[in-house]
Amino acid sequence: MRTMRELYESVRKQEEAKGRTFPEWDETSEMDCLLHPEKYEKRVQDAPESPWNTEGLSADAAAVSAELRKKEQKVYALIAPAFMGQFGGDVTPGKVRAALKRAGFLGMAEVAVFADVLTLKEALEFDAHIKTAEDFQLTSCCCPVWIAMIRDIFGELMPHVPGAVSPMIAAGRATKKLHPGAVTVFLGPCMAKKKEAREPDIADAVDHVLTFEEVRALLDAAGIDPEEMPEDEREHSSAAGRIYARTGGVSEAVRRTVAQLNPVRSIEVVPRQADGVAACREMIAQIKSGAGRANFYEGMACQGGCVGGPKALLDRESGRELVNRYGEEAVYQTPLENPYVLALIEKLGFYTVDDFLEKSDLLTRDFLSAAH
Ligand code: SF4
Repeated sequence: MRTMRELYESVRKQEEAKGRTFPEWDETSEMDCLLHPEKYEKRVQDAPESPWNTEGLSADAAAVSAELRKKEQKVYALIAPAFMGQFGGDVTPGKVRAALKRAGFLGMAEVAVFADVLTLKEALEFDAHIKTAEDFQLTSCCCPVWIAMIRDIFGELMPHVPGAVSPMIAAGRATKKLHPGAVTVFLGPCMAKKKEAREPDIADAVDHVLTFEEVRALLDAAGIDPEEMPEDEREHSSAAGRIYARTGGVSEAVRRTVAQLNPVRSIEVVPRQADGVAACREMIAQIKSGAGRANFYEGMACQGGCVGGPKALLDRESGRELVNRYGEEAVYQTPLENPYVLALIEKLGFYTVDDFLEKSDLLTRDFLSAAH
């Protein structure tokens, strides 16, 4: 039974043979709200009072502002991979984190880290199940509209969808596991995520969902300008998780990870993507008719993917460019070479690859029972 550490070491050796350099498995001495929750507890008492003006906030934003003002409440922000540049051209991830903490959040976790976790899971599933030219997999990952379309209209394809939760749900469940009693707030460009967070089988993960518009209003209400914040950098995500925010990102992440996981594999990932509801329907029709054969299908309901989400504050093209740039700046390319992601998986209780694949209730759901 291969452990996560053995997996990391084998990938490290493989990549070093190609001339790349890698860090040792790091016990993450760096302070981090997910891996070292105990170091963050005291901050609840130390959190500064913000002078709030909540007039005009949406009901959801007002509910979050009330949570933030409760003394001793541990509130965590889980921010979607599409967040790059959404709060101003000069607002780095570190400034966003500092602004959210100033508003009273105890920490900000990038959901891209959980996109990494689920990329590894999808890559392992692909390696385990795609054995012939006829086999194929539909990503189960991030877009609730795509999943609802398959589940509700094209149910016969559900056996090809691994039963993984979305990165948002994984982030919420992991945060609650590591910080019992935490309040989790997802921040993103998507309205459909509000509904996803309330689906009965996964309603345990995320307490509130705010759009980027609502986040901006919330920060305004607290009198916080993200541009003026100091840097609070803790970027642990790989390129793979960061590019989830744009069409093709999930496929590319899984393709790169499968190639690293099993370099001698005879059947490679042959991806195909669709963005926009009409294109997703057309792709599904082609899968059913056997035309346009690929073996990994990714659907995103918004054109361009989440950077084209209905509540994005930035235009789709700029959003895509910034997400790609953030991916290029990542130290790690995939979750397999990212010791932080693998340490997080261990911290969640999955020490072996088999456990991660077969006993990961935290990261799985039963889509069909969820529909009824
Ligand atoms: S593609 Fe659109 S609907 Fe799907 S998760 Fe992203 S923002 Fe939401």
